[in-house]
Amino acid sequence: LTSTAAVVPPRVYAVANQKGGVGKTTTAINLATALAAVGQKVLLVDLDPQGNASTGLGIDIADRTIGTYELLCGFAQLPQAIAATRIPNLEIVPANVNLAGAELELIDLEKREFRLRDALEGKQSHWDVILIDCPPSLGLLTINSLVAAEAVLVPLQCEFFALEGLGQLTRTIERARRALNPKLYIAGVILTMMDRRNTLAQQVERDVRGHFADVVFGTTIPRNVRVSEAPSHGLPVLLYDHTCTGSQAYILLASELLHRRRHGVPPRPQAAA
Ligand code: ADP
Ligand code: MG
Repeated sequence: LTSTAAVVPPRVYAVANQKGGVGKTTTAINLATALAAVGQKVLLVDLDPQGNASTGLGIDIADRTIGTYELLCGFAQLPQAIAATRIPNLEIVPANVNLAGAELELIDLEKREFRLRDALEGKQSHWDVILIDCPPSLGLLTINSLVAAEAVLVPLQCEFFALEGLGQLTRTIERARRALNPKLYIAGVILTMMDRRNTLAQQVERDVRGHFADVVFGTTIPRNVRVSEAPSHGLPVLLYDHTCTGSQAYILLASELLHRRRHGVPPRPQAAA
């Protein structure tokens, strides 16, 4: 009975995996939308120079003149860098083309790993959940997200090299935890683009669940063409086609995350791999 008393769920999550095309942005957009739909106040931070999260949420280029780049480099404060989305309860710090230079420009700035954390400092409580969509690398942008976040969500595509890349990611998270952000932990691995008819994918799922146990979300995101169509309409799949299997999976994922937040599970894992 006492064990549920003092659980303070994380507020800031980095959605990270240095592999491209594993579903980071899709998960950030649709998890954010599903959480906003049940009344959570959500901020999505687009930390990928490609700006896919901003595009996928239909943010006009004209509304991106101040975004994550300006925030990281100190040219803007958080309130100026926020754009509204068409989804109630969901705001975004968009990415614009300037962010492409940030990885290099940050090197010369003081406290280069702490820029995002400092930009959010003291303002996080305005939202229930903040999701940071990371670029497909382990450079300074992702490091900034690992310092600003309390927890990491790792989208993983069930394919042959998936586990190999995970070792590199968990080592980076562990280094960030030791050197920069002692409370950081992996809050969940999310299996994405799952094709249950594929026996290799099934084997990889068994391996990942065997290795990471409860850290892996019970919900898996199926491969679903509606999910891949939605961004070209500037819509989360939940608004594009709320009945498709992809939408239903992201609703389940959001409810599983909320359950974990309420009950503090899974226990904080040790670094693996
Ligand atoms: P990342 O951000 O990790 O690079 P994305 O979220 O952009 O990955 O996904 C890569 C591609 O796969 C995109 O074209 C996206 O639309 C597509 N995709 C992502 N999740 C699914 C899914 N569940 N079903 C079908 N296509 C998907
Ligand atoms: Mg992406």
